[in-house]
Amino acid sequence: MKNLTESEKTLSNESSNGILEIRKYPDPVLKKISEPVTVFDDELEDFVKVLFSSMRVHDGVGLAAPQVGVLKKIAVVEYDGKSYVLINPKVVDQKGLQEGEEGCLSFPGIYAHVTRPQWVKIESNDVHGDTVTFEGEGYTARAFLHEMDHLNGKLFIDYLSSLKRNAIKKKAAKHTGGHF
Ligand SMILES: [Zn+2]
Repeated sequence: MKNLTESEKTLSNESSNGILEIRKYPDPVLKKISEPVTVFDDELEDFVKVLFSSMRVHDGVGLAAPQVGVLKKIAVVEYDGKSYVLINPKVVDQKGLQEGEEGCLSFPGIYAHVTRPQWVKIESNDVHGDTVTFEGEGYTARAFLHEMDHLNGKLFIDYLSSLKRNAIKKKAAKHTGGHF
């Protein structure tokens, strides 16, 4: 994960630079199921670029389209110096289990332990519509799966016990200052 410079932080408060606002829980868009991408054009390519820049400005390792209010099966992940574009992604193989702490740009300041596969193989489309496969292990696998869950309206708190989930819901409600 990268550290932000002050200038980048200032940039994120401006609306004219193409940086997208991150929808925060409990925004209902986060619980909706995204539509598959069927048109692979310049607009898609531009959106992927903006998704990457929005993710970087917010110091994330991944960002999914529904988190910026776009219900399309598109997500980006950037970790350990590698960037991945996930369009209509699906898990085609997985191995092992890992438990670890996870955060989400839609839940500022909230972290929870989530068990996920240790290794996954993903089949995806690239921005041109070609089918590509890539693998991820450890935290990269976790990031793929977390972002892919977003495309199906599933949030990391859905893996927790109802007791823990309710505690997080209360904390998130405080964060949003009762705007919802
Ligand atoms: Zn998330």
